[in-house]
Amino acid sequence: MSPSPIPAAGLFVAIHSPQIRRPRCPIPSAPSVITARSPTNFWHWKNFSPAEIACRGTGQLKLNPAAMDRLQALRDRLGKPMILRSAYRTPEHNRSVGGAPRSKHMEGIAFDVSMANHDRQAFIAAAEAVGFGGIGTYPRSNFIHVDARQVPARWGEPFPARATPFATEAPLAREALAQSRTLRGTGAAGVATVGAAGVEVAQEVLAEAQGTVLPLVPYLDTLRWVFIALALGGIALAVWARLDDWRKGLR
Ligand SMILES: [Zn+2]
Repeated sequence: MSPSPIPAAGLFVAIHSPQIRRPRCPIPSAPSVITARSPTNFWHWKNFSPAEIACRGTGQLKLNPAAMDRLQALRDRLGKPMILRSAYRTPEHNRSVGGAPRSKHMEGIAFDVSMANHDRQAFIAAAEAVGFGGIGTYPRSNFIHVDARQVPARWGEPFPARATPFATEAPLAREALAQSRTLRGTGAAGVATVGAAGVEVAQEVLAEAQGTVLPLVPYLDTLRWVFIALALGGIALAVWARLDDWRKGLR
C-alpha cells in the first residue's frame, strides 16, 4: 500500500467542527477531499490546531504544508502564542469578509496574526527571517498579514510606536524564586527563622504578583535581612520593655 502523495499546491481536508461552521457562508458544492497519508500523525504543527487554520465561515480546511512549516517556524522563533484572526478562506467566505479578489487566504498560504501580544517590528523581522514573502500591516485592526508568496510584497500603513514597549521575556517569578538563596536556605535556624518566615509570606504574595514583582527578585535575599532586622528589633524592644518594667518596679 503506497501512501497517497500530497499535492504541491495544497491539500483539501474536510473537517467537521460545528462551532466554526456558520450558516451564512455555505460550503462550496464540490470540495476536493484528499486523504492524508497518515491522518493520526499528519498534523505536525504543534502550536496550531486544524480549527485555527480552517475557514472561519465554512469550517473547511485547505492546507499548504510548506506554508504551515513557515507558520510553525515563526511561532518557534517568536516563542509566544500567535492569535490567528484568519487563515484559510473559501472563495465565498473571502468575498463575504471583503478579502482581496486574489487573496492568498484562498490558497491556504496566508495568515492574519493579532498584534495584541507581539512587538510589531520583532514580528515583521521574524516573519521575513522564516521566509514569508508577503507582509501587510493593518494597524487600525491591530493585525499583520503574512503569506508564503514567492515574490516579496509589502503593503499597509506602519504601526504607530507603542507608548509602552513589551517587556523582554523573563523567566516567571516562581522559577526565579526557586533559584533564590532564601528559598533554598530557609532551614537556617535560630532567630533567622522569624525573619525567614516573613520572607516566605512575602514570597507567596510576591509570587502571586509575578509581573510587577520581577524587578524585586534580585533583592529578595537582601529583603530577608530586613525581616531579620525587624524581628531582632522586635525582640530587643520586648526585652527592653521587660527591663523597663522591672526597673520601674524597683523604684
Ligand atoms: Zn490576510
